Amino acid sequence: MIRITPTPASQLGNTDFSKLEFGKYVSDHMFIAHYRNGQWDNGEIIPFQNIPVSPAALALHYGQSVFEGMKAFRMNSGPVSIFRIPKHLERLNRSLERMCMQPVPAEMFREAVETLVKTDIDWVPPAGEGSLYLRPFVFASESRYGVKVSDEFTFIIFSGPVGPYYPKPLRVKVETLYSRAARGGTGAAKCAGNYGASFYPTRMAQQEGFDAVIWTDGQQHEYIEESGTMNVMFVDRGTLITPELTDSILPGITRDSILQLARKMQIDVREYKIPVQELKQKLADGSLTEAFGTGTAAVVAPIKSISIDGEEFTLPDATDDSLMFRLRNALNELRTEGSGDTFGWNTILS
Ligand SMILES: *Cc1c(COP(=O)(O)O)cnc(C)c1O
Repeated sequence: MIRITPTPASQLGNTDFSKLEFGKYVSDHMFIAHYRNGQWDNGEIIPFQNIPVSPAALALHYGQSVFEGMKAFRMNSGPVSIFRIPKHLERLNRSLERMCMQPVPAEMFREAVETLVKTDIDWVPPAGEGSLYLRPFVFASESRYGVKVSDEFTFIIFSGPVGPYYPKPLRVKVETLYSRAARGGTGAAKCAGNYGASFYPTRMAQQEGFDAVIWTDGQQHEYIEESGTMNVMFVDRGTLITPELTDSILPGITRDSILQLARKMQIDVREYKIPVQELKQKLADGSLTEAFGTGTAAVVAPIKSISIDGEEFTLPDATDDSLMFRLRNALNELRTEGSGDTFGWNTILS
């Protein structure tokens, strides 16, 4: 049992659920646990609040910090369901291992996530009107400025309601100067530093009028990797294609879910190393009809044009019949109806 200290001052009444912007509101409570002297404490749920952090905390200097992003949904029938808890835990622990950080015990993670969502259950938006975004993260909290692997860690989960997110179709460029991740690097770990390093190239692309970049491999910039902070998929003559996972691609859980759903829907799926020049050819001859990003926040983010070597290719407008929206709707339905969940992805809270 996790100890819960309820907030004396709920912010629920000050939150406009009709105007939810991603990342704007936090719910009333958070879970916090500490790893010290070789063990995790029990952790507790407390009102969302600032925390004391030593200026010498190792995370602030040497970047030992990893995070997750996951969601809870209100189902049409009323109960709340949390999406793919074991898969998020598995990825969190793989990221932690890559950063020489202490893994989070499975039972602690599951209980913390479930108890936190139950505590803030009124913060889960109505079915179809958004979801409760959960942000688990772990950082090196040992106060010591000599370079070392931290012996102390803080694990926090907080949450916030987010609206249904229909991003405007993106104008992107294939990036061939900067890299997000290198072979042998940390690209497959959801670590804070990957984001810090991606801001500058993204800002440069935005100054040229693009919304985001499509990252390519860090060696030769010859193969497609990801789109901004999302995985990327294309439709090539009806076949769903996406870069196969490597150690420089973040293994998205939305990516995995969409691929599994597509296979179940008898759609042809191919995961392979997609050469930039092949993509350019397919855009030029019209065989590529859809491009989109996938991630927990947006689920599916349509791409309207792709610039390669200074040449911009515009894709047909996405319609309700587009594969990307059929897949997005199937995933949303699985989460709010529960009926299609032959995978066991939903944890339905009682
Ligand atoms: C989190 C993330 C994704 C998407 O992963 P999801 O599990 O689908 O949210 C894709 N690329 C990067 C770089 C990420 O950090």
